Amino acid sequence: MSESYGKKCAVVTGSSRGIGAATIEEFAKKNYNVVINYVQHEKTAEDLKKKIENLYNVQAILVKADISIEEEVFYLLEETKKIFKRIDVLVNNAGIAIDTTLEDKTVDNFNKIINTNLIGTFLCCKYIGTFMKEQGFGSIVNIASGNAIDAYYPYSMDYDASKAGVISLTHNFALLYAKEIHVNCVAPGWVNTDANKEMDEEFYKKECNHILLNRFAEPKEIAETIVFVAEASYINDSIIKVDGGRRIC
Ligand code: NAD
Repeated sequence: MSESYGKKCAVVTGSSRGIGAATIEEFAKKNYNVVINYVQHEKTAEDLKKKIENLYNVQAILVKADISIEEEVFYLLEETKKIFKRIDVLVNNAGIAIDTTLEDKTVDNFNKIINTNLIGTFLCCKYIGTFMKEQGFGSIVNIASGNAIDAYYPYSMDYDASKAGVISLTHNFALLYAKEIHVNCVAPGWVNTDANKEMDEEFYKKECNHILLNRFAEPKEIAETIVFVAEASYINDSIIKVDGGRRIC
């Protein structure tokens, strides 16, 4: 298949809201057709599709698929191929966290987090990455977290471990898919999304004091980095922190 076939296409998992939705919009601005994947928030996903098609001259499709389930990832791939025939970018953004005290941590919740954040990323890299390898081009951006590198939050140790696994997957898939496919990882610090909307105000202020820019990121700021990394011709197998200069001291 030729790279010049139709408009480029970006698939972003978990993209009905937050960083994923902002990433869909940044790709649409750059003239990509986009695949909005969701499992819940159907109305939000539909509203995003309308917004994208009203504002930009691209096509947006909705694909309901739980990325932790193998058959559903396969369905996401097949639906995308059916409509767009090509996949230029995959952003593995879907993720969950279940923050609790150690006492309240359960194997069941740990499994849920691993199944979504780590196995979901693995399945999308496996199936969509294999398709990219066959078509001969493509770029994958996995979304980890600063928590996977050098910021420690025992309340989210299960989440942090899953995201450290995402970094490891990034290196192995970069090696496996070289040189046609770039595989990179973006590791955000705190971002103002719905996932953090219940945050205690004192904790929020304390965390801002640990960030040189003294604020959380907006989803758009992470999305712009994701698009930049996805398109960069000489960035490969890299872990890029986007945290405003977060330091624990
Ligand atoms: P969010 O909760 O707003 O969005 C995550 C989306 O993923 C949701 O729409 C959710 O429905 C979807 N999702 C969850 N499980 C899924 C599954 N099995 N299949 C398909 N979709 C699924 O979160 P966000 O803040 O926008 O975060 C996006 C990504 O960035 C996540 O991977 C998160 O871990 C990471 N991240 C976020 C922050 C932050 O401060 N918000 C910081 C570091 C990393």
